[in-house]
Amino acid sequence: MRKRPFFLEEIPQFTLPSIGLAVLGHPISHSISPVLHNAALSDLSLKDSAFKGWSYHRVDIKAENLANALVTFAEAGYLGLNLTIPHKVEALKSVDRLDSEASLIGAINTLCLRDGEWFGYNTDGYGLHQALRKDLGCEIPNSKILILGAGGAARAAAVKCLLEGASTVHIHNRSPERLHDLLSLLSNHFEHSRISGTTVSNFRKVEFIDQDWIVINATSLGLSEEDPSPFCMPCTELGKKSVVYDMIYNPAKTKLLAEADEAGLSFANGLSMLVYQAAKSLEIWTDQEVCAERMLEAAKNYFSG
Ligand code: NDP
Repeated sequence: MRKRPFFLEEIPQFTLPSIGLAVLGHPISHSISPVLHNAALSDLSLKDSAFKGWSYHRVDIKAENLANALVTFAEAGYLGLNLTIPHKVEALKSVDRLDSEASLIGAINTLCLRDGEWFGYNTDGYGLHQALRKDLGCEIPNSKILILGAGGAARAAAVKCLLEGASTVHIHNRSPERLHDLLSLLSNHFEHSRISGTTVSNFRKVEFIDQDWIVINATSLGLSEEDPSPFCMPCTELGKKSVVYDMIYNPAKTKLLAEADEAGLSFANGLSMLVYQAAKSLEIWTDQEVCAERMLEAAKNYFSG
């Protein structure tokens, strides 16, 4: 991977059959998306030489520059873009068309250029769903889901879990403002009986003890090795068939995951979600089946070496 992300004024230009793909964010230097996508593209190009000229980069774009940047990317021969902090919600204003799941979530992580128009998608929920299945063997229908956090990633998780038939989605968040925004968004589209929420001040441990939950950390607490666990009860008090998924993948084992491990619960980190959401984005752009395992292998090699 190139050491430094591009700025908009220095992005490579592409002419067919070459195609540009990129992840846009600010900051963006931490993103390993090019490692995943370029590994999968090199596999695709072995099967079909049309993909030989495709490449994926990181581009540093500030929030206020996104709308203009989308015009520049279209002119420079880019077909697909991923969006990360701070663009996922703001991009809603700049796209020409919106997929129904992205519209429900209220955030976009994938853009595809078709006939000069940017189509917006959200593949984070798909990525989480696949990750829960493949890493933890969990099925969402009729499950009880406890989501820690109420930001963009939590929105995608909550909508996907409700769409997939979870019996309960409980959101626990630090600030009441974001919690209430998310609860009211969900209540507009799903049965109220399936949705609940708490902050630290009204969380009642007794309602969770000895029950089997799929606990999902969608807060940024854990990104630093020193961060405490975002969960306000010990994992040992959950039902024994509970599982814990942390969307954070660096560090690979957060305090929450270490606690889940000590409690004997199945657990996994967010690398699989990153991989499956990326694979889905690449499938949208290429219209080909993408080997997610190849992306996972490339990511693991990157972190180990
Ligand atoms: P947002 O900024 O939209 O949301 C952040 C959330 O974290 C909010 O609910 C916020 O609570 C909470 N939070 C932040 N700091 C603290 C704290 N000190 N104590 C308790 N809660 C806190 O971020 P995203 O939703 O986009 O991302 C959330 C996490 O998910 C990040 O770690 C990100 O890296 C990860 N992620 C992983 C993906 C993957 O593919 N594996 C994909 C997308 C995200 P409050 O409302 O109170 O501020």
